[in-house]
Amino acid sequence: MAKAIKIEESNIKCDHCGYKSPRIIPRQAKRYINKPCPVCGHNLLTRREYLGAIGFLFIVDIVNLLFKADENTYCKKVVVTSDKSGLSIKDVD
Ligand SMILES: [Zn+2]
Repeated sequence: MAKAIKIEESNIKCDHCGYKSPRIIPRQAKRYINKPCPVCGHNLLTRREYLGAIGFLFIVDIVNLLFKADENTYCKKVVVTSDKSGLSIKDVD
């Protein structure tokens, strides 16, 4: 059985200029805290944004422990963002 929630891509995006890092392993994002954007120098990731993302990953782990997906499971693709305003989920279908 597949996971109920699958993370397909994870990266860091600059809130200021829109720069997007190459794919990263979500739990390794800590290395980007307070690092400057390579394009504009703006802070790429605050500690608060990082903690929001880690909290989301924790919830994903719990959901995946409780629920599994199969070929009949309805799939929905969303983009989850953790920024200065908090955590947001956008529908991309
Ligand atoms: Zn930037």
